[in-house]
Amino acid sequence: MSKPARKVVFIDRDGVINVDLWKYVEKWREFKFEKSAFEALKKLTDKGFDIFIISNQAGVGDGVFTEAVMWEIHEKMVAALAKRGIVIRGARFCTHAKKARCDCRKPKTQLLEKAVAGINFDKNRTFFVGDKLSDLAAGKNFGVKTVLVRTGYGKESEKKLTRALRPDHIVDDLNAAVPFILSA
Ligand SMILES: [Mg+2]
Ligand SMILES: [Zn+2]
Repeated sequence: MSKPARKVVFIDRDGVINVDLWKYVEKWREFKFEKSAFEALKKLTDKGFDIFIISNQAGVGDGVFTEAVMWEIHEKMVAALAKRGIVIRGARFCTHAKKARCDCRKPKTQLLEKAVAGINFDKNRTFFVGDKLSDLAAGKNFGVKTVLVRTGYGKESEKKLTRALRPDHIVDDLNAAVPFILSA
């Protein structure tokens, strides 16, 4: 018998969980949580979701900061969340340069595939929450539902939506995405 299906949510990092600085987050000191992030992530944790961070960090490949620093920021973020009872099940980063034409940078789906490898879950009840068109496209390409948040780059993204690339839902911030996710 297969294991019971898990509830999965993919979340972009910059501009969704933390304030997008309109440049790379190069050190932990620059990392500031979005106002709604704690409440949203706590609710999702309490409802039993497996939360995965899916993030392009081309600053590594472009030589702006090191992969070690990227992971240090991640560990500190996870620890800050854990103090509030929030569990991050996993994270996948594309660290390649923007121009590297790698196989994982969103809107490609490899980060999502690897994150949930071996996990039994229902794509129809799974969401990708992000602030950029590349997030929406990655979610759509992977066959999950998508939510655009207006934090970070979201308001700019909203202006660029096309008929071919529309999210399933648009909300002001991560916390406002939670009821939609829970209703699936
Ligand atoms: Mg983002
Ligand atoms: Zn990559």
